[in-house]
Amino acid sequence: MQTNASAPAKASMPPLRSRLPGVVANPAPANNAVKPLPAPVYTWTSLKRWAAEQRLGPPRLLTRSPLVTYAISSDRGVMVLAIGSREVTWNGVLLHLGFAPEIIDGEVYLHGLDLQKSLEPFLCEPPPAYGTNRVIVIDPGHGGMNAGTLSVGDRRPEKEFTLDWARRIKPLLEEEGWQVFLTRTNDVDIALSNRVAIAEYRRADLFISLHFNSAAPDSKPVGLATFCLTPMGLPSTVTRDYPDILMQSYPNNSFDTQNVQLAERLQRALLHATALDDRGVNRARFIGVLRGQRRPAVLIEAGFLSNPHEAKRIADPNFRQKLAEAVAAALK
Ligand SMILES: [Zn+2]
Repeated sequence: MQTNASAPAKASMPPLRSRLPGVVANPAPANNAVKPLPAPVYTWTSLKRWAAEQRLGPPRLLTRSPLVTYAISSDRGVMVLAIGSREVTWNGVLLHLGFAPEIIDGEVYLHGLDLQKSLEPFLCEPPPAYGTNRVIVIDPGHGGMNAGTLSVGDRRPEKEFTLDWARRIKPLLEEEGWQVFLTRTNDVDIALSNRVAIAEYRRADLFISLHFNSAAPDSKPVGLATFCLTPMGLPSTVTRDYPDILMQSYPNNSFDTQNVQLAERLQRALLHATALDDRGVNRARFIGVLRGQRRPAVLIEAGFLSNPHEAKRIADPNFRQKLAEAVAAALK
Protein backbone atom coordinates (compact mmCIF):
# COMPACT_ATOMS: atom_id res chain seq x y z
CA MET A 1 0.00 0.00 0.00
CA GLN A 2 2.92 2.40 0.65
CA THR A 3 0.77 4.81 2.55
CA ASN A 4 3.54 5.84 4.90
CA ALA A 5 2.57 9.29 5.32
CA SER A 6 5.92 10.19 5.69
CA ALA A 7 5.46 10.48 1.95
CA PRO A 8 5.30 14.25 1.81
CA ALA A 9 3.68 16.29 -0.89
CA LYS A 10 5.62 15.77 -4.07
CA ALA A 11 7.71 18.83 -4.80
CA SER A 12 6.76 18.72 -8.46
CA MET A 13 3.07 18.69 -7.70
CA PRO A 14 1.19 21.99 -8.13
CA PRO A 15 -0.54 22.98 -4.93
CA LEU A 16 -4.06 21.63 -4.82
CA ARG A 17 -5.26 25.12 -3.95
CA SER A 18 -4.56 26.23 -7.51
CA ARG A 19 -6.83 23.53 -8.93
CA LEU A 20 -9.59 23.40 -6.37
CA PRO A 21 -10.62 26.84 -5.12
CA GLY A 22 -11.26 26.99 -1.42
CA VAL A 23 -9.04 24.07 -0.50
CA VAL A 24 -6.26 24.88 1.88
CA ALA A 25 -3.19 22.84 1.03
CA ASN A 26 -2.52 22.08 4.68
CA PRO A 27 -5.51 20.72 6.58
CA ALA A 28 -6.79 23.06 9.26
CA PRO A 29 -5.51 22.28 12.75
CA ALA A 30 -7.70 20.27 15.05
CA ASN A 31 -10.02 22.81 16.58
CA ASN A 32 -13.61 23.88 17.01
CA ALA A 33 -15.48 20.82 15.75
CA VAL A 34 -13.32 18.38 17.69
CA LYS A 35 -14.35 17.44 21.20
CA PRO A 36 -11.62 17.05 23.80
CA LEU A 37 -10.70 13.41 24.29
CA PRO A 38 -11.83 11.75 27.52
CA ALA A 39 -8.99 10.88 29.87
CA PRO A 40 -7.59 7.46 28.98
CA VAL A 41 -8.02 4.64 31.48
CA TYR A 42 -4.74 2.89 32.16
CA THR A 43 -5.67 0.38 34.84
CA TRP A 44 -6.07 -3.31 34.18
CA THR A 45 -9.63 -4.25 35.01
CA SER A 46 -11.39 -7.51 35.80
CA LEU A 47 -13.48 -8.48 32.78
CA LYS A 48 -16.11 -9.92 35.09
CA ARG A 49 -16.38 -6.68 37.06
CA TRP A 50 -16.52 -4.58 33.90
CA ALA A 51 -19.21 -6.87 32.43
CA ALA A 52 -21.31 -6.48 35.58
CA GLU A 53 -20.96 -2.67 35.39
CA GLN A 54 -22.10 -2.81 31.76
CA ARG A 55 -25.02 -5.07 32.70
CA LEU A 56 -23.62 -7.91 30.61
CA GLY A 57 -23.46 -11.54 31.61
CA PRO A 58 -20.17 -12.83 33.05
CA PRO A 59 -17.43 -14.07 30.70
CA ARG A 60 -17.91 -17.75 29.81
CA LEU A 61 -14.99 -20.16 29.53
CA LEU A 62 -15.12 -21.78 26.05
CA THR A 63 -11.99 -23.92 26.01
CA ARG A 64 -8.63 -24.35 27.73
CA SER A 65 -6.74 -25.50 24.65
CA PRO A 66 -4.76 -24.40 22.70
CA LEU A 67 -5.40 -21.09 24.49
CA VAL A 68 -7.65 -20.40 27.44
CA THR A 69 -10.57 -18.79 25.64
CA TYR A 70 -13.55 -16.84 26.91
CA ALA A 71 -16.71 -15.43 25.34
CA ILE A 72 -18.50 -12.31 26.44
CA SER A 73 -21.88 -11.40 24.97
CA SER A 74 -24.41 -8.64 24.73
CA ASP A 75 -27.62 -8.51 22.73
CA ARG A 76 -25.47 -7.26 19.82
CA GLY A 77 -23.22 -10.30 19.59
CA VAL A 78 -20.36 -12.34 20.98
CA MET A 79 -16.74 -11.33 21.56
CA VAL A 80 -14.31 -14.22 21.89
CA LEU A 81 -10.92 -13.56 23.48
CA ALA A 82 -7.97 -15.69 24.52
CA ILE A 83 -5.48 -15.25 27.33
CA GLY A 84 -2.12 -14.09 25.99
CA SER A 85 -3.44 -13.17 22.53
CA ARG A 86 -4.23 -9.75 21.08
CA GLU A 87 -6.58 -11.36 18.56
CA VAL A 88 -10.31 -11.38 19.35
CA THR A 89 -13.30 -12.14 17.18
CA TRP A 90 -16.53 -10.17 17.12
CA ASN A 91 -19.36 -12.28 15.67
CA GLY A 92 -16.65 -14.17 13.81
CA VAL A 93 -14.68 -11.20 12.40
CA LEU A 94 -11.08 -10.76 13.55
CA LEU A 95 -10.27 -7.63 15.59
CA HIS A 96 -7.12 -6.73 17.49
CA LEU A 97 -6.65 -5.58 21.07
CA GLY A 98 -3.85 -3.27 22.10
CA PHE A 99 -2.80 -5.61 24.93
CA ALA A 100 -3.35 -9.35 25.39
CA PRO A 101 -5.74 -10.32 28.22
CA GLU A 102 -4.11 -11.76 31.32
CA ILE A 103 -5.14 -13.98 34.21
CA ILE A 104 -4.59 -12.25 37.54
CA ASP A 105 -5.54 -14.10 40.73
CA GLY A 106 -7.58 -16.57 38.65
CA GLU A 107 -9.61 -13.87 36.88
CA VAL A 108 -9.49 -12.47 33.34
CA TYR A 109 -8.10 -8.94 33.22
CA LEU A 110 -8.14 -6.54 30.26
CA HIS A 111 -6.40 -3.23 29.83
CA GLY A 112 -8.87 -0.43 30.59
CA LEU A 113 -8.22 1.20 27.23
CA ASP A 114 -9.12 -2.01 25.42
CA LEU A 115 -12.39 -2.20 27.31
CA GLN A 116 -13.12 1.39 26.30
CA LYS A 117 -11.77 1.36 22.75
CA SER A 118 -12.02 -2.26 21.60
CA LEU A 119 -14.92 -3.90 23.44
CA GLU A 120 -17.40 -1.11 24.22
CA PRO A 121 -17.78 0.02 20.57
CA PHE A 122 -19.25 -3.41 19.80
CA LEU A 123 -20.72 -4.84 22.98
CA CYS A 124 -22.12 -1.61 24.41
CA GLU A 125 -22.45 1.11 21.75
CA PRO A 126 -25.25 1.16 19.17
CA PRO A 127 -24.02 0.31 15.67
CA PRO A 128 -23.43 3.34 13.44
CA ALA A 129 -26.47 4.53 11.51
CA TYR A 130 -26.05 6.27 8.16
CA GLY A 131 -28.96 8.35 6.92
CA THR A 132 -29.48 9.80 3.47
CA ASN A 133 -27.93 13.03 2.19
CA ARG A 134 -24.60 12.02 3.59
CA VAL A 135 -21.29 13.02 2.06
CA ILE A 136 -18.54 10.48 1.55
CA VAL A 137 -15.08 10.82 0.05
CA ILE A 138 -13.70 7.68 -1.58
CA ASP A 139 -9.94 7.68 -2.05
CA PRO A 140 -8.52 5.44 -4.80
CA GLY A 141 -4.99 4.77 -3.51
CA HIS A 142 -1.95 6.01 -5.46
CA GLY A 143 -2.13 7.54 -8.96
CA GLY A 144 0.16 9.17 -11.53
CA MET A 145 3.84 8.60 -10.77
CA ASN A 146 2.82 6.77 -7.59
CA ALA A 147 1.74 3.44 -9.07
CA GLY A 148 1.44 1.52 -5.82
CA THR A 149 2.41 -2.13 -6.00
CA LEU A 150 2.49 -4.16 -9.21
CA SER A 151 0.40 -7.27 -9.81
CA VAL A 152 2.48 -10.44 -9.79
CA GLY A 153 0.16 -11.61 -12.57
CA ASP A 154 -0.03 -9.11 -15.40
CA ARG A 155 2.20 -6.40 -13.80
CA ARG A 156 -0.66 -3.91 -13.86
CA PRO A 157 -0.30 -1.27 -11.12
CA GLU A 158 -2.39 -1.06 -7.98
CA LYS A 159 -3.43 2.52 -8.92
CA GLU A 160 -5.52 1.18 -11.84
CA PHE A 161 -7.41 -1.30 -9.73
CA THR A 162 -8.13 1.15 -6.91
CA LEU A 163 -9.51 3.74 -9.35
CA ASP A 164 -11.74 1.17 -11.04
CA TRP A 165 -13.04 -0.02 -7.65
CA ALA A 166 -13.82 3.58 -6.61
CA ARG A 167 -15.64 4.30 -9.89
CA ARG A 168 -17.78 1.22 -9.29
CA ILE A 169 -18.61 2.29 -5.73
CA LYS A 170 -19.77 5.80 -6.69
CA PRO A 171 -23.06 4.99 -8.48
CA LEU A 172 -23.97 2.32 -5.93
CA LEU A 173 -23.70 4.77 -3.04
CA GLU A 174 -25.45 7.51 -5.00
CA GLU A 175 -28.40 5.17 -5.44
CA GLU A 176 -28.48 4.95 -1.65
CA GLY A 177 -28.65 8.71 -1.31
CA TRP A 178 -25.01 9.46 -0.63
CA GLN A 179 -23.15 12.36 -2.16
CA VAL A 180 -19.94 10.74 -3.35
CA PHE A 181 -16.65 12.46 -4.18
CA LEU A 182 -13.49 10.73 -5.35
CA THR A 183 -10.09 12.16 -4.41
CA ARG A 184 -9.09 11.44 -8.01
CA THR A 185 -11.10 10.45 -11.06
CA ASN A 186 -8.15 9.77 -13.34
CA ASP A 187 -4.49 8.80 -13.25
CA VAL A 188 -3.00 11.70 -11.32
CA ASP A 189 -0.59 11.94 -8.42
CA ILE A 190 -2.22 13.39 -5.30
CA ALA A 191 -0.28 13.96 -2.08
CA LEU A 192 -1.65 12.25 1.02
CA SER A 193 -2.14 15.63 2.71
CA ASN A 194 -4.27 16.77 -0.22
CA ARG A 195 -6.44 13.67 0.04
CA VAL A 196 -7.22 14.77 3.60
CA ALA A 197 -7.78 18.35 2.40
CA ILE A 198 -10.30 17.17 -0.20
CA ALA A 199 -12.35 15.42 2.52
CA GLU A 200 -12.21 18.66 4.53
CA TYR A 201 -13.25 20.79 1.54
CA ARG A 202 -16.18 18.48 0.76
CA ARG A 203 -17.16 18.42 4.44
CA ALA A 204 -17.22 14.65 4.23
CA ASP A 205 -19.00 12.59 6.86
CA LEU A 206 -16.91 9.53 6.03
CA PHE A 207 -13.62 8.80 4.30
CA ILE A 208 -12.62 5.44 2.83
CA SER A 209 -9.24 4.81 1.19
CA LEU A 210 -8.94 1.89 -1.24
CA HIS A 211 -5.80 -0.21 -1.65
CA PHE A 212 -4.50 -3.65 -2.53
CA ASN A 213 -1.75 -5.27 -0.52
CA SER A 214 1.68 -6.64 -1.37
CA ALA A 215 4.23 -8.76 0.43
CA ALA A 216 6.51 -9.05 -2.62
CA PRO A 217 8.74 -10.89 -3.11
CA ASP A 218 6.87 -13.24 -0.75
CA SER A 219 3.91 -14.60 -2.72
CA LYS A 220 2.30 -16.52 0.15
CA PRO A 221 0.43 -13.89 2.23
CA VAL A 222 -3.26 -13.62 1.35
CA GLY A 223 -6.41 -12.01 2.68
CA LEU A 224 -8.34 -8.88 3.38
CA ALA A 225 -7.55 -6.26 6.01
CA THR A 226 -8.99 -2.94 7.10
CA PHE A 227 -7.11 -0.27 9.00
CA CYS A 228 -8.08 2.60 11.24
CA LEU A 229 -6.09 4.94 13.47
CA THR A 230 -4.79 3.54 16.78
CA PRO A 231 -6.43 5.16 19.83
CA MET A 232 -4.11 7.14 22.08
CA GLY A 233 -2.40 4.91 24.65
CA LEU A 234 -2.73 1.63 22.73
CA PRO A 235 0.02 -0.03 20.69
CA SER A 236 -0.72 -0.38 16.97
CA THR A 237 -1.30 -3.74 15.29
CA VAL A 238 0.92 -2.75 12.37
CA THR A 239 3.69 -0.14 12.56
CA ARG A 240 5.79 -0.50 9.38
CA ASP A 241 8.76 1.79 9.98
CA TYR A 242 6.72 4.55 11.59
CA PRO A 243 7.46 5.26 15.26
CA ASP A 244 4.47 4.02 17.25
CA ILE A 245 4.25 6.73 19.91
CA LEU A 246 1.48 5.61 22.26
CA MET A 247 0.78 9.01 23.77
CA GLN A 248 0.47 10.79 20.43
CA SER A 249 -3.04 11.89 19.55
CA TYR A 250 -4.30 13.02 16.16
CA PRO A 251 -7.46 14.86 15.01
CA ASN A 252 -8.95 11.54 13.86
CA ASN A 253 -8.70 10.12 17.41
CA SER A 254 -11.94 11.98 18.16
CA PHE A 255 -13.60 9.23 16.10
CA ASP A 256 -12.02 6.14 17.69
CA THR A 257 -15.39 4.44 18.27
CA GLN A 258 -16.86 5.17 14.84
CA ASN A 259 -13.57 4.29 13.12
CA VAL A 260 -13.45 0.78 14.50
CA GLN A 261 -17.18 0.26 14.00
CA LEU A 262 -16.94 1.36 10.35
CA ALA A 263 -13.83 -0.77 9.78
CA GLU A 264 -15.57 -3.84 11.21
CA ARG A 265 -18.65 -3.28 9.04
CA LEU A 266 -16.56 -2.95 5.90
CA GLN A 267 -14.41 -5.94 6.82
CA ARG A 268 -17.48 -8.11 7.47
CA ALA A 269 -19.26 -7.11 4.24
CA LEU A 270 -16.12 -7.57 2.12
CA LEU A 271 -15.36 -10.99 3.63
CA HIS A 272 -18.93 -12.04 2.99
CA ALA A 273 -18.77 -10.91 -0.65
CA THR A 274 -15.34 -12.32 -1.53
CA ALA A 275 -14.58 -15.18 0.89
CA LEU A 276 -11.04 -13.81 1.15
CA ASP A 277 -9.07 -14.79 4.28
CA ASP A 278 -9.76 -12.56 7.27
CA ARG A 279 -6.69 -10.51 8.23
CA GLY A 280 -8.87 -8.49 10.53
CA VAL A 281 -9.52 -4.94 11.58
CA ASN A 282 -6.11 -3.46 12.33
CA ARG A 283 -4.93 -0.29 13.98
CA ALA A 284 -2.03 1.78 12.77
CA ARG A 285 -0.50 5.24 13.17
CA PHE A 286 1.57 5.26 9.98
CA ILE A 287 -1.30 5.90 7.56
CA GLY A 288 -1.17 9.54 6.54
CA VAL A 289 -4.60 9.70 4.89
CA LEU A 290 -6.29 8.70 8.16
CA ARG A 291 -4.56 10.58 10.99
CA GLY A 292 -5.64 14.11 10.14
CA GLN A 293 -9.23 13.26 9.20
CA ARG A 294 -11.97 15.04 11.15
CA ARG A 295 -14.48 12.30 10.33
CA PRO A 296 -14.54 8.50 10.64
CA ALA A 297 -11.89 7.18 8.26
CA VAL A 298 -10.86 3.68 7.21
CA LEU A 299 -8.36 2.19 4.77
CA ILE A 300 -9.05 -1.15 3.04
CA GLU A 301 -6.45 -3.58 1.63
CA ALA A 302 -8.58 -5.90 -0.50
CA GLY A 303 -6.24 -8.82 -1.14
CA PHE A 304 -2.61 -9.26 -2.20
CA LEU A 305 -1.38 -8.36 -5.67
CA SER A 306 1.78 -10.31 -4.72
CA ASN A 307 -0.18 -13.57 -4.47
CA PRO A 308 -0.87 -15.19 -7.87
CA HIS A 309 -4.35 -16.43 -6.95
CA GLU A 310 -5.52 -13.14 -5.45
CA ALA A 311 -3.84 -11.10 -8.21
CA LYS A 312 -5.86 -13.06 -10.74
CA ARG A 313 -9.07 -12.37 -8.83
CA ILE A 314 -8.29 -8.65 -8.50
CA ALA A 315 -7.67 -8.46 -12.26
CA ASP A 316 -11.24 -9.70 -12.84
CA PRO A 317 -13.75 -6.81 -13.19
CA ASN A 318 -16.47 -9.02 -11.66
CA PHE A 319 -14.42 -9.32 -8.50
CA ARG A 320 -13.96 -5.55 -8.31
CA GLN A 321 -17.71 -5.14 -8.77
CA LYS A 322 -18.21 -7.45 -5.78
CA LEU A 323 -15.81 -5.31 -3.76
CA ALA A 324 -17.80 -2.20 -4.71
CA GLU A 325 -21.12 -3.78 -3.85
CA ALA A 326 -19.74 -4.89 -0.48
CA VAL A 327 -18.64 -1.35 0.40
CA ALA A 328 -22.09 -0.05 -0.52
CA ALA A 329 -23.76 -2.84 1.49
CA ALA A 330 -21.67 -1.97 4.55
CA LEU A 331 -22.96 1.62 4.49
CA LYS A 332 -26.66 0.75 4.23
ZN1 LIG B 1 -1.60 0.92 -1.75
